Amino acid sequence: MSISPPAWWTEALGATCIRAAEEALPNEMCGFIWTDPRGVQQFTKLRAVATPTSVQAVPQDVVARMYEVDRQDGRILASVHTHPLGPSWFSQRDQSLALVATWHVLVYRQVDGWAVRFGRSEAVRERRTGVKPPTGP
Ligand SMILES: [Zn+2]
Repeated sequence: MSISPPAWWTEALGATCIRAAEEALPNEMCGFIWTDPRGVQQFTKLRAVATPTSVQAVPQDVVARMYEVDRQDGRILASVHTHPLGPSWFSQRDQSLALVATWHVLVYRQVDGWAVRFGRSEAVRERRTGVKPPTGP
């Protein structure tokens, strides 16, 4: 199942995430997308301990980057991470990303290049509990 991209998603953001995914090869990479008060989306890559099949952000860097977003009156929109060796879906371990943001961007490698898949935390919770979250802003 694939979810449509969020309204704020752009081709440029996709290109930025794919470039970061390529630079991190052969390992996975993680980061987040945030927006500044002018509505400009930015990608921030996190320092991480990474292998070709796993990535774990350095906690101190996560905290430092989140303070930086807060200082700029920004808001975090999505987590981003990569699966250079697949799979093309969010793994069980990826469920912890729900703590970071509502939206999740998975950049995975295919035979002919990279592709992007989107996930939403509400969808994850709904699947786990069978309870639809309240709709709101
Ligand atoms: Zn993953």
